[in-house]
Amino acid sequence: MRFDILTLFPAAFDSFVTTSIIARAINEKHIEVHTHNIRDWGMGKHRQVDDVPYGGGAGMLLRPEPLWGAIHHVKGLVADDAPVIYMTPQGEPFVQQSAEKMAKAHTRIILLCGHYEGIDYRIRESLVDAELRIGNYVLTGGELPAQIIIDAVSRLKKGVLGDDMSSHEESFSPALKRKKEYPHYTRPAEFQGMVVPDVLISGHHANIQKWREENCSD
Ligand code: SAH
Repeated sequence: MRFDILTLFPAAFDSFVTTSIIARAINEKHIEVHTHNIRDWGMGKHRQVDDVPYGGGAGMLLRPEPLWGAIHHVKGLVADDAPVIYMTPQGEPFVQQSAEKMAKAHTRIILLCGHYEGIDYRIRESLVDAELRIGNYVLTGGELPAQIIIDAVSRLKKGVLGDDMSSHEESFSPALKRKKEYPHYTRPAEFQGMVVPDVLISGHHANIQKWREENCSD
């Protein structure tokens, strides 16, 4: 699976792509993460990308010309119909089912990160295929939302987690009927006077399964 990210701040992805499971997934070629700096399509000597909003008001908006150039460039890198997804608090909520759908339906997605007050509406109308929000709050940019989406989708891809079953039975998964996962315990069996439930130590698989089902929460 390939992710192309359009951002004004590619450096925001440095630690993301060099840390832990995502770094390994990239090294093992399960996923590709490519950042593209929107400023490369900026205008004039100063590579301008933003401007004041028509109608007045605070803050700056990303102008359509650099976004138009950047999006067309990235679309043309691979002959496919990768969707362009804009990160915005006004988008559809991104939930586990969204991650599942993306992991299944696409081999590539293009993630557009806004900044400041957002982007010129004409780009949203003409070149954006879907809009997603990661929660009901406003951040300074789409870089963290893009990382969240890449992370949640990637871990559903075969080979990304060491054990492919790890993403099978967990919170919000169909296997747990979309509920939240049961409590986990590891060694030691007793810690600060708190003990692991007997059933988990019993080795009785049917009972363990039953206990786990009963201890999932809505
Ligand atoms: N003026 C906008 C907010 C702009 S925030 C509004 O009121 O809706 C600046 C950028 O951060 C946005 O363009 C978007 O790319 C990103 N962003 C902020 N909060 C987000 C969220 N909850 N989900 C996804 N992207 C978000």
